[in-house]
Amino acid sequence: MAIVGAGMGGLAAAIRLTAMGFEVEVFEKNGQTGGRMGRLEAGGFTFDTGPSLLLMTDTYRELFRSAGRDLDDYVKLIPLDGQYRVTFGDVDTLTIRRALPELIKEIERIEPGVTPNFYRFLEDACYKYRLGRSEFVERDFDKAKDFFGLRNLRLLLKTKAVNNYYRQVSKFFTSDKLRQAFSLQTMYLGLSPFEAPAVYSLLPYTELAEDGLWFPEGGMYALVGAMEKLAMELGVTFHMNSPVEKVVVTKGRARGVMVDGEEIEADAVLANADLPYAYRELLGERADSDFKLRKRGKLQYTASAYMLYLGIEGKLDNMLHHNFYLSERYRENFEAIFRDGRLPDDPSFYAVVPSKTEPRMAPEGMDSLFVLVPVPHLGPNVDWERDGEAFREKVYGLLERRCGVSRDRVVYEKVRTPLDWRDDYNLEEGAAFGIGHGIFQVGYFRPPMVSQAVEGMYFVGASTRPGTGVPLVTIGARLVAERIGREVGA
Ligand SMILES: Cc1cc2nc3c(=O)[nH]c(=O)nc-3n(C[C@H](O)[C@H](O)[C@H](O)COP(=O)(O)OP(=O)(O)OC[C@H]3O[C@@H](n4cnc5c(N)ncnc54)[C@H](O)[C@@H]3O)c2cc1C
Repeated sequence: MAIVGAGMGGLAAAIRLTAMGFEVEVFEKNGQTGGRMGRLEAGGFTFDTGPSLLLMTDTYRELFRSAGRDLDDYVKLIPLDGQYRVTFGDVDTLTIRRALPELIKEIERIEPGVTPNFYRFLEDACYKYRLGRSEFVERDFDKAKDFFGLRNLRLLLKTKAVNNYYRQVSKFFTSDKLRQAFSLQTMYLGLSPFEAPAVYSLLPYTELAEDGLWFPEGGMYALVGAMEKLAMELGVTFHMNSPVEKVVVTKGRARGVMVDGEEIEADAVLANADLPYAYRELLGERADSDFKLRKRGKLQYTASAYMLYLGIEGKLDNMLHHNFYLSERYRENFEAIFRDGRLPDDPSFYAVVPSKTEPRMAPEGMDSLFVLVPVPHLGPNVDWERDGEAFREKVYGLLERRCGVSRDRVVYEKVRTPLDWRDDYNLEEGAAFGIGHGIFQVGYFRPPMVSQAVEGMYFVGASTRPGTGVPLVTIGARLVAERIGREVGA
């Protein structure tokens, strides 16, 4: 079995398939496993370069159990209590806590009398989480009737899962601030709350009431390290710095991969590389009927992310581990990115100080700071070569004005734009989170994990089912491994 890519999807699938008895070889373009969940070490600072919010930890525990191991023996997960602080455009703040009595005091200050509605919001989100997860996320939808069955359609209507997220949240909260605080979570997936389906209220629910928000000791990359270690113990072979040039197909069946001009045979191929890229570049015209099913040009993409990884002199006392700074023009910010495909004038942004929880991520007396500004994926309205410098200035201005971080405290800097997301990981359109999750790109409508065009060709990762985000990709790895087990046989 050949796997193209050692992102979280590739790693999780490699673990499962090896545990099922397959001989697995992983070919990774870069010199590091984890893909977007990467690590940067420079100037004495340590940064997780992608995911920073660890949710739904049961998915990782189950992955380790499937190989007869215990996650706790590989990495320690720390629960975060003061989950994050939201700073609104007018500088008012709200700290999101799992301790509900504390949180309720805060939300009552913003919207007096809101408590019963807040509980109704949680109840509704819980319903979406439970049903959404078991009926839609954790299922393969092998056949159209699995998705379009009467029972499913009834559930979709009943849960109002496909209603508009922001409109749904607005039914529970009247103040703009609480509407924003409980809709910003769609940004985790590169989506706009004004366009995303309401099912994503499961995100604030998982943070507040289900499993909560966690951080691995050693940083997010410690989870990647744990998975890599387990994969190696099980016997997975990794070929690093080995970009796959194409999937070898004979008589309509995937027979292996081509690396550095050499054909490497395999019984089946699993592409963890971004699906639209894999269709176009690795399968080419062979993916014609996959294309027909999901014309690449018609796919909708998530937003991208402009990143600053900064080493800061002194401690960032006025910030928590996770911090959201919302634009005074919250809606316009999303419209600029998603509707107009241009850089927002007054961006919302997200800032993480992991050294608050893991001091080893910065030298003594300093902090590491990760700044993520949602921006459009690559398109005609932004030229990063031309516009990049002015945008960088804007972000530094925001850091000074909104976080009190002056530029003279920056002792290390690395910038990443959508061009880098595209070039470093082969992400189509530089869309940092993969293809979008509009109604026609979720469930049965999302590109399937099994190629329609090439036998023995499978997909795992953010742009196939069930969707983006590390827990979903990990669930996808289980679903595809089960499918390969049934179809290819161990
Ligand atoms: C800035 C940012 C923040 C995020 N924050 C969160 C978060 O807080 N929580 C969360 O759950 N999710 C978050 N996400 C989303 C999450 O990172 C992704 O959904 C997930 O990591 C995707 O994993 P993947 O395996 O599908 O893809 P990838 O990580 O892209 O892995 C694919 C791998 O394939 C390799 N590859 C590509 N082409 C080839 C080729 N030709 N040959 C060989 N190898 C190839 C790539 O180098 C890469 O290593 C974030 C994403 C970003 C970008």
